[in-house]
Amino acid sequence: MKLVSILKLQLLLQLREGKKYGYELMKGSEVLLGKKISPSQIYPFLAELQKSRLIKIVKRSARDKKLYSLTEKGKIFSENTLQRLDSMFALANRDRIKKCAHCGCFVYGKSFTKSGKHFCCGSCANNF
Ligand SMILES: [Zn+2]
Repeated sequence: MKLVSILKLQLLLQLREGKKYGYELMKGSEVLLGKKISPSQIYPFLAELQKSRLIKIVKRSARDKKLYSLTEKGKIFSENTLQRLDSMFALANRDRIKKCAHCGCFVYGKSFTKSGKHFCCGSCANNF
């Protein structure tokens, strides 16, 4: 299976947290993507992920509500994908990562600056 649209990927990532109903996945996608998602957008993807054996239905309730879970293959796939994305983001954010001049730890995003040097916290800045 090729990578996957953002929607598919984030469905897998949601399922890494545990079993979820289709409706929960839909709501979760809306939050993650910041826009309204319809069942007709979610269910074809779920069917496709199921066909690729990345997810499975673990429970089916009365009104045909389905509880989804990652399969072993799905766990490995999402783990690998996350690792790849992780290195991509690390690369993209390289210049946002600073090293504390005092303790040497890495700071992501906003760092303390004092006389042109970066620090992880006020205490490191004062003790430098
Ligand atoms: Zn520090």
